[in-house]
Amino acid sequence: MTNRPLTCLVALLAAGTALAADPDPSYARFRETYRELVETNTTLSAGDCTLAAERMKARLHAAGYPDLDLRIFVPEGHPKEGGLLAELKGSDPKRRAVLMLAHVDVVEARREDWTRDPFTFLEEDGYYYGRGVSDMKAQAAIWVDNLVRFREQGFTPKRTVKLALTCGEETNSALNGAGWLAQHERAAIDAEFALTEGTDGDLDASGRRVALEVLAAEKVSQNYELEVRNAGGHSSRPVPDNAIYHLVRAVDRISRYEFPVQLDEANRGYLTGMAPLVGGEKGEAMRRVAANPEDAAAVAILDRDPNVHAMLRTTCVATMLSAGHATNALPQRAKANINCRIFPGVSRESIQAELARLADDPAVAVSIPEVRGPLANPPPLTPRVMDPIRAVAGELWPGVPVVTALEPGASDAQFMNPAGIPTYGVTGLFTDPDGGHIHGLNERIRVRSVVEGREFLYRLVKRYASE
Ligand SMILES: [Zn+2]
Repeated sequence: MTNRPLTCLVALLAAGTALAADPDPSYARFRETYRELVETNTTLSAGDCTLAAERMKARLHAAGYPDLDLRIFVPEGHPKEGGLLAELKGSDPKRRAVLMLAHVDVVEARREDWTRDPFTFLEEDGYYYGRGVSDMKAQAAIWVDNLVRFREQGFTPKRTVKLALTCGEETNSALNGAGWLAQHERAAIDAEFALTEGTDGDLDASGRRVALEVLAAEKVSQNYELEVRNAGGHSSRPVPDNAIYHLVRAVDRISRYEFPVQLDEANRGYLTGMAPLVGGEKGEAMRRVAANPEDAAAVAILDRDPNVHAMLRTTCVATMLSAGHATNALPQRAKANINCRIFPGVSRESIQAELARLADDPAVAVSIPEVRGPLANPPPLTPRVMDPIRAVAGELWPGVPVVTALEPGASDAQFMNPAGIPTYGVTGLFTDPDGGHIHGLNERIRVRSVVEGREFLYRLVKRYASE
């Protein structure tokens, strides 16, 4: 869609699925990149991120990028969990780069569970289907396509535009490529700031655009282990001092606790931005909580929405239990995993102390089984970052507000921010209220959303690169 006037783009966008047959060769080429990426299985169990990275490298090479500016990296001992580093050099060495970051690995998908083959890219009724079409191979393909388009136009950015495609974001136990880069290749990914996945644009049930969300902060996932050990004994002669009873009472007390509401720039921006769009009782509650986080009645209204509930505070929830060793024995050990999503700026240790206080039982030990790296404060929403987002969104979707958000989940920003690379979640991809079934069955995304998101991210990166 390069060089096509905006009015024409808008007409095309209005045509919706007709775009699939868009004769624009540049879109067709992008679609091929996207298809190839989706059809390259990158699950941890059977896939190969290195292969996906090599395929994207080949596309950039074909577009004219010299080998010097393209590099496959493969962490030692993880031959299939590699990635790609690429760059388009800027003309002004004093300006720091902008980094386009995407993970190319995907959540497991079993053929027998899906209506369609998850690794066959399919277009049907105005949607693209396949594992990763939404999370996050659309954006990864758009990043590659951006570099191809820039090269094709002979565009020389003022600042260097970098690309990093990584593996291991979707599996907690896997080696995380972004974390590995931050540790081993810090100079190669150095940038003033980075863009990656996070929150998308919101569509309502009829496909109307409600708001474009920009992710400015995210919570930290941290597991805590509750453990009770006991001498046990024969189950025919029970005693009150029972490891399972200690544990379940502690878990029950934790389940009844609600962490207090905390507001920062990101979730306050979300509440004030969404309040007029949501309207009604909930909109009014958003306004009231933004003004006073201790307004319990208004908080109670917002807490009915699990997404908003999670955005307002630290949450902790029991996710696994294991106890006992025989059906006819008193348990010698009982364990629970509590998964907390910690509000930005709150320490792991303070949450640990809070869980111990809630457990309220010296028999219950609360420990941190594993730590995934340093914590960092959320990146600031500076005009340098936000103004171009608002400007490009205004060009493509006039009247659709840009709203900041705090993400209850976590992306690779968790590795970038502590490494001193402020990372923002901005996709320009509008998703249905069902979220497009990411991580689930029959993952999909609207064709129209991809067409628009591609144009959005192209203009946005070009603007950052030119400023
Ligand atoms: Zn993702």
